[in-house]
Formats: sequence, structure tokens, C-alpha cells
Amino acid sequence: MAILLGSIADDYTGASDLANTLTKNGLRTVQTVGIPDPALALPDVDAVVVSLKIRSVPASDAVAAAASAERWLRQRGAGHVLYKICSTFDSTDAGNIGPVTEALSDAAGGGGVLVTPAFPETGRTVYLGHLFVGGQPLNESPLKDHPLNPMHDANLVRVLTRQSRNAVGLIDLTTIAAGPGAVKARLDALSTAGITAVIADAIFERDLETLGEVALETPVSTGASGLGLGLARALLRSGRISSDGATTADAIRPVGGLSAIVAGSCSKATLHQLDIAERSMPVLRLDPERLLAGPDEIAAAISWAGDRISAGPVVIAASAAPETVSRLQSLHGREASGHAIETATSIIAAELVGRGVRRLVVAGGETSGAAVDRLAIPAFLIGPEIAPGVPVLRTVGNAQGDMLLALKSGNFGGEDFFTSALAMMH
Ligand code: ADP
Repeated sequence: MAILLGSIADDYTGASDLANTLTKNGLRTVQTVGIPDPALALPDVDAVVVSLKIRSVPASDAVAAAASAERWLRQRGAGHVLYKICSTFDSTDAGNIGPVTEALSDAAGGGGVLVTPAFPETGRTVYLGHLFVGGQPLNESPLKDHPLNPMHDANLVRVLTRQSRNAVGLIDLTTIAAGPGAVKARLDALSTAGITAVIADAIFERDLETLGEVALETPVSTGASGLGLGLARALLRSGRISSDGATTADAIRPVGGLSAIVAGSCSKATLHQLDIAERSMPVLRLDPERLLAGPDEIAAAISWAGDRISAGPVVIAASAAPETVSRLQSLHGREASGHAIETATSIIAAELVGRGVRRLVVAGGETSGAAVDRLAIPAFLIGPEIAPGVPVLRTVGNAQGDMLLALKSGNFGGEDFFTSALAMMH
């Protein structure tokens, strides 16, 4: 079955957020990890989100990666491709939103591209081309101090002009309030005048629904999960989706096997969730110093799990309280200790899968990324949410057979997150 909506996400977390938003708005959605193999067999889906890591790489690399993702999506039938960016327009004057947007438009034969990072649910709104984060203009928000891409200008027309070859246009809220016909006419007029990227205002979800409807008539758009919501709702309204309410049920068909939880998040919520899990499951607290010292701690953890896992789920956690984390970081450096522990937790996750684990919960954003990379999982079908923002995922094309995963970053989930997650994974 051909897919209706394709998306290229500039980072993995953004891809997950978009894939979850599309699913919640009625599209059967697969998220791939990197540019998929040409032979990847997809289940019946409406949308595919290709996760890349191109937000902060040189613009020419971002363009090349986006172009090959686009080719894959078009070959699978995608009539529209959304370039998924951060809702804070995270980028520098050297790119990559402008160059990728223009390259995707060129690849589709030219034409105007609607661009909006608006996502009202998370407080991101755009008015007269200016991005607001909560109640503040972007350049007065905490994003002005972003470590990689500090944002000093809230005027997105100016920001995008500095990144673009062509002039950048604006479609303001008054035009959007006048409806899809008015927006389309303005977009066409700007395109005829030689403009490619057009910043679109949006304050409410209804504005994004209007933009989604217009975008669907064009080959490319650029935006955050808010525009994804608009596109999904427009697709549903168009009657082209045969969603029967069972969108996510298929994703949680039982997979059997053993189950485990691996945690590397040191967030307050995760630490509390581990304490609660300890009441009902065996929990192994890894010794971070020993993890850094060599492979013995990993081998000991696997052996500990081997003695218990056939009786029920086990938890293995590197997570520690802030004092312990700072001590390790001051001894070994922040990056080095984080990376070494991610490597260790990913090896533990892979060893557990090698021993029959098919239902896996991973706590920690970076920890999850490292585990998914090591397990070489090509793609996921998005299932129902365990907690807001954290869906059950079903592997697609996985060498070890179908698995169910829950990848939870930082502060997500209630105190019983781990038992709630496992209760949805059979
Ligand atoms: P979160 O989603 O909560 O930010 P991440 O997995 O993204 O979680 O980040 C947590 C980081 O902390 C990872 O790099 C992980 O390897 C590291 N880490 C885990 N346990 C410890 C520890 N005991 N000491 C120091 N760093 C740790």
C-alpha cells in the first residue's frame, strides 16, 4: 500500500514526537531509524517518518541526507513530504532549514513551501512571522542561550532569509483566517514572484488545520509536530484514510518472550519510578565506577538477570542521584562518563535481547538512542501511549523478530510508569 504522508525529521527525538502526534491524530505511522533500506517491508501505514540527525551538521550534508530520504519516501508513494524541524526553529545562519527546504522544493519541481514551527500544545505560536515560546518572543526565551544554536532573532522571515538562496515570504494570520483558498492564492502568488519558503503564522490548531489542507496540495512543507497535526487532520477530512479507530491496536499484538527494563536516565522522575518498581520487580543498581572500569560489571549484570528473568521482568539501572552523577563526571568528564554508560547500558540491552527479551523498556533519551542503534532496529510502528508522549513501539523489519519497546526520556511518565508500560506489552 502506498503511503500518503512522508516526513524527514532532523533529529530522532523530534521524529518520535511527530510520529506520536500523527498516530494520535489517526494516521498509522512508522518511524524509521535513519534512511531505510530500499527493501524494508512496511506494514500497511499512512505515514512514514524518516529519523535523521541533520539538525547541526553542515548544510551540504543535511541536504544530501534529506534528498535520499525524500527519494525513498516518494518511491513508497508519498505525495507530500514534511521536513520536520524543531518547534523552536533550532538552526544557525548557515542552515539547515533554508537549504533543505529549498532543495526539497527543487527536487519536487519547484513551488512555494509553507514553513511554520507553530505547535500551540507546547506554547509555540507564530504571529506576523515572529515565533513565541510560551509568552516570550524566541530571542527573549531560554533558547537565546541554547548551547549549539543560540536564537537571537524572533523574526523567522529574517532568520530564514539568512539561510536561504531565494527571498522568503510571509502568510499572515489574517490570510490564514480567511481559509485555505486565500492561503493557497497567496502561496501561489509568492511562488510566482520567485519565493520558495513562506513563513506561515499559526496560533491555534485550527490555523494548522488550514495550513495542513493547503500543504497537502503541494509536494513539500516544513514545520514541527503542529504542522504534522494539521496535515493528519486534513488527510482524515479528505477521506483518503480508512482509519477505523483501530489505528494502534495492531501495534501491540503480543510478541511473547521475556521482558526487561534498562535505565540510564538520572532524572528525578526516573529515580522515583525505579524506587516504585523495586516494590514489585528485582532491580539491579549498577556501580557506575565499575562500569567505567571494564566489562566485568556488564557480565555480572547479565548473569544476575539470567538467574531471575525467566520468573518475570527485571530492571537494570545505571541511574543515580545528582551527587553520584556529579562525582563521576568530575572524575571522568561529563561527555566521557555519559557516553561510556550509554555504551554499557546498550550492551546490556542487546545481551538481554540475545537471551530472549522481546519486551524492552528503556529509560533515558540518549540511553534509548544508544540501545536502538546497538540493536540495529530499522523502524517502529507507533502504538498507543503509555503516558503522554511515550507510546508503545513495535519493531518493523527487526532481525530478532518482532519486539515491543517503550523508550522514555527524562521526566516522562507517572510513578508507576514501568509497570504500566509492561502491562501494555504482552
Ligand atoms: P534523560 O532522558 O533523563 O536526559 P539520557 O539517557 O538522555 O536521560 O541521559 C542520561 C545520561 O546520564 C546518559 O548519558 C547516561 O549514560 C548518563 N548516566 C547514567 N547513569 C549515570 C551515572 N550513574 N553517572 C553519570 N552518568 C550517568
